[in-house]
Amino acid sequence: MKILFCSSEASPFAKTGGLADVAGALPLALEALGHEVRITLPKYKMVKEAGDSAIIGKRVKVKFIYNDKLYMRDGIYGDEHGDYPDNIERFSYYCRAALDYIKDDGFKPDIIHCNDWQTGLIPVYLKTLYKDDEFYKGIRTVLTVHNLAYTGSFEKREFSITGLDEFCVKTFGFEYYGKISLLKAGLVNADVLTTVSKTYAKEIQTKEFGCGLEDLLEKRSSDLYGVINGIDYSIWDPAKDNYIYEKYGLDSMNKRCENKKKLIKDLHISIGLKRPLFGIVGRLAYQKGFDLITEVIDRLKDIDAGMVILGTGDKKYHDMLLKKKKRYCNSVSLNLCFDEQLAHRIYAASDMFIMASRYEPCGLGQLISFKYGAVPIVRSTGGLADTVKEYDSVTGDGEGFVFYDNNSEALFKTMKHAVDLFENKKLWNNLVKKIASYDFSWSMSAKEYERIYEKIKG
Ligand code: ADP
Repeated sequence: MKILFCSSEASPFAKTGGLADVAGALPLALEALGHEVRITLPKYKMVKEAGDSAIIGKRVKVKFIYNDKLYMRDGIYGDEHGDYPDNIERFSYYCRAALDYIKDDGFKPDIIHCNDWQTGLIPVYLKTLYKDDEFYKGIRTVLTVHNLAYTGSFEKREFSITGLDEFCVKTFGFEYYGKISLLKAGLVNADVLTTVSKTYAKEIQTKEFGCGLEDLLEKRSSDLYGVINGIDYSIWDPAKDNYIYEKYGLDSMNKRCENKKKLIKDLHISIGLKRPLFGIVGRLAYQKGFDLITEVIDRLKDIDAGMVILGTGDKKYHDMLLKKKKRYCNSVSLNLCFDEQLAHRIYAASDMFIMASRYEPCGLGQLISFKYGAVPIVRSTGGLADTVKEYDSVTGDGEGFVFYDNNSEALFKTMKHAVDLFENKKLWNNLVKKIASYDFSWSMSAKEYERIYEKIKG
C-alpha cells in the first residue's frame, strides 16, 4: 500500500512529545512490512535538515512543507506567552500543502494517516475543496488521536481562514460548544479512527475523559480502534545509546550503577549511591500530574531518596517546582528545558521512573523505562493501565508499581512500597532484568495498523 503519514511533529526533526516518537517510527515499521510510506512535516526553525526533504529508514521520504512566515519560529505550537494566535492558519496551510504535494509529486496514497487536531482538516478537504479532482478519488483517511484534550478549537469568526464555506461548519461537524474544533471535524469525517491504547479508546467515550466529544466517539465506536504505541529501539536501547555514560545490556545491568553515579555527580545531587533515585521526564502540563510530584518532594527525606526531573511547559508548573526545589537542592535536580541527552541519561540512571498522569493516552516514558531497567511507578489510567501491572513480590508477576487515587498521598505510599522492595537487592535485580527484556517494538502495532488500512482501502 501507499501511505501518507501527516503529523505536526516527527523525530528526529521536531519534537515536543510522544507524537514525534510515533511519527518518526511507525512509518519505518510500515515500510518494513513492505509499504511505501511518506511523511509530511512543516519546516520549522528547529528542522535542521537542508533542502525540502529527507530520507529516514530505507526510503521513507519526509517532505518538509515550507512557509517561513508561518513556521520559522522557535516553537512548534507556541512560545512562553502560550499558543501562537495564528495556529488555525498554520495548520490549515499545512493540510492543504500536504494534499497539494501528493498531486504535484504524483504520489497517490491508498491511505492518508492523520494525527491529532493539526491534521483534522485533511478528511474534510478531501470531501470539499478536493472532491472533484480525479487524483484524490478513493483515498481513505485514518485519524489517530494521540491526545483528545487538544481539540484544536478556535473562534467561529476564524473559520474562513480554513478556506471553507461557512455552511461547512454545520455540514462537516466543526461545531464545538460555540466554537469550532478541527479535531472534531476530523473525527466526524475520517473513514476510521484510532487512538493509542485500548483503555484510552474506552475512556474517551466517557464524560470524564471525552472532552465533550464522548457522544460522537460512542456513536463512531465501531470505527474506533485502540492500538498501543511501540518504541523505536534503534533510538531507545541502552546497549547502543551514545547519550548515556555507560552502555549496558541484559547481561550487564550492573552498569546502570555507573550511569547513576555519573548523573548524580553531574547534577550535583548528594544522595548515597545505594539510595533510590526517582526519574521523571515529561511535558509540564496539567495532564502529567506535576502537582502531585511537587507535593511528594517534601517527603523524599522520609525515604532517603533523590529525584531528577526533566520537563518544560506551563509556567505554573515551572514556578511551582522552582519554589519547592529551593528547599531541597541536595536531593532534587530540576531541569526545566527540553534536553534529549539528559532524558536518555535519566532513563539509564534512575531506579524508578514516575508517571503520575491524570490521564495518559498511551505514554512512552514507561515503555522506554522498561528497556532501560528503571521500574515504572504509574497512575492507573489509559495506556499506563494497559502496560504496567502491579509487581507481586511473591509470584514475580507484574512489572511496576501502580496507584489509583489522584493525590500525592497515594503516589507517596506507592513510592514507599517500591523503596521497601528496592532494599531487597536480589528481588529488585530480577525485576529490573525482567522489564529490560520486554519487547514493545513497533512490529506488532504496525501490523494492527496494516489490518485497519486493509479494511478501509478503496
Ligand atoms: P506525551 O506525548 O504526552 O508528551 P509520552 O510519554 O507519550 O508523553 O512521550 C513523551 C516523550 O517525550 C518521551 O520520548 C520523553 O522522553 C520525551 N520528553 C518529554 N519531555 C522531554 C524533555 N523536557 N526533554 C527531553 N525529552 C522529553
